[in-house]
Amino acid sequence: MTHLLHRAIHSRLPVAVRGEGIYIHDSEGKAYIDASGGAAVSCLGHSHPDVLKALHEQLDAIAYAHTGFFTTDVAERLGDRLIEDAPAGLEKVYLVSGGSEAVEAALKMARQYFVETGEHGRRHVIARRQSYHGNTLGALAAGGNEWRRTQFRPLLIETHHISPCYAYRHQHEGETAEEYGERAARELEEKILELGEDLVMAFIAEPVVGATSGAVPPAPGYFRKIREICDRYGVLLILDEVMCGMGRTGTLHACEQEGISPDLMTIAKGLGGGYQPIGAVLLSGRIFEAFEQGSGFFQHGHTYMGHPMAAAAGLAVQEVIRRDGLLANVVAMGEHLADGLAKRFGQNANVGDIRGRGLFQAIELVENKETKAPFDPVLKVNAHIKREAMDRGLMVYPMGGTIDGREGDHVLIAPPFISTKGDIEAIVDRLGAAVDAAIGSTGR
Ligand code: PLP
Repeated sequence: MTHLLHRAIHSRLPVAVRGEGIYIHDSEGKAYIDASGGAAVSCLGHSHPDVLKALHEQLDAIAYAHTGFFTTDVAERLGDRLIEDAPAGLEKVYLVSGGSEAVEAALKMARQYFVETGEHGRRHVIARRQSYHGNTLGALAAGGNEWRRTQFRPLLIETHHISPCYAYRHQHEGETAEEYGERAARELEEKILELGEDLVMAFIAEPVVGATSGAVPPAPGYFRKIREICDRYGVLLILDEVMCGMGRTGTLHACEQEGISPDLMTIAKGLGGGYQPIGAVLLSGRIFEAFEQGSGFFQHGHTYMGHPMAAAAGLAVQEVIRRDGLLANVVAMGEHLADGLAKRFGQNANVGDIRGRGLFQAIELVENKETKAPFDPVLKVNAHIKREAMDRGLMVYPMGGTIDGREGDHVLIAPPFISTKGDIEAIVDRLGAAVDAAIGSTGR
């Protein structure tokens, strides 16, 4: 009998014993293509020799040194690398252990910034429905996915939500993509005015929405308008690139494709590629100066922040991506994946939308393509797809998002950046068979 809670709940989980390239092998000798990179994490695949070497060297040198006593070369070098490649205006890095920690820290940085600058009234956080920013209480409060929040509501700080920018569901007929983007962004302005323009602290959003709705890219111009609105009302813009960042969409940061820079940016997942738990907040020079000239520090901290092993993983992963020109491969393989999905699912009566950027693509499943009505949640179409895919040696990331108050089904595909054309074709083939079998089993 297992004592692990996650195994006790998911009793049928196979046991992973070895990872190699894009494959994970289980204890029964079965190989799975890791086409979801876990949860959009394993950007270099598994057991990359350069990352393993860097980790062994770091372990031999020093595994842990508390940041209250020491800095380390490896953390300094990672900080330098992240700022060298950062969106304009981001000047400092705060290293943590994962995405939720990064979001918590970013929210507290935003609040402390306004305390340091004397705007004590600014406390409201605005986020979007159908977003996910993590599972710790602050991050969960910011997230807009109701089913994750409901039972914890009494513990959550008050946050405010506007509509997501989700063209497939919300763009009106006769409206251009640009007009839709402008309309969706205007909701932020309306919410700021409703709450009181001097009381809003931050707006947080994922540039390309991941777990809750499946690789939903923004409408053209949406984020430029969001940036303008934040600037007009003195609201800090936090971009959560935990899932869509670090090269996943074909540029190192997803916001580069929107032509904007945030005041705070959270990254994790692909930063360390799963070789160690690591996340970070990148903050603007303006926020840093407020801390420096104010209380002189950021009132926060975690035991494992700046962990040398995690920093070594992050640095090695990012060096391999740069050295091997892997962002170009993300773009090329992303196009191949998008073409493959379009060919395989374009005519499928239950695939309503195919979307994404780079190696961050998704299909959205619907019961009725005309009306876009989702499947009844009791059918658990996503769970069936996951099981059928695993049976065929394929890992994809099926999550139910909330569509207009109901659960919906999408499948997120986020394979490693080292994937080849043949790998992408195998992913599409196996996914096609899994989706057919899963939908067939619903009897719809
Ligand atoms: N933010 C986004 C956009 C995420 O997708 C996630 C995780 O899926 C998180 C934050 C939380 O990250 P973690 O699970 O590393 O705490």
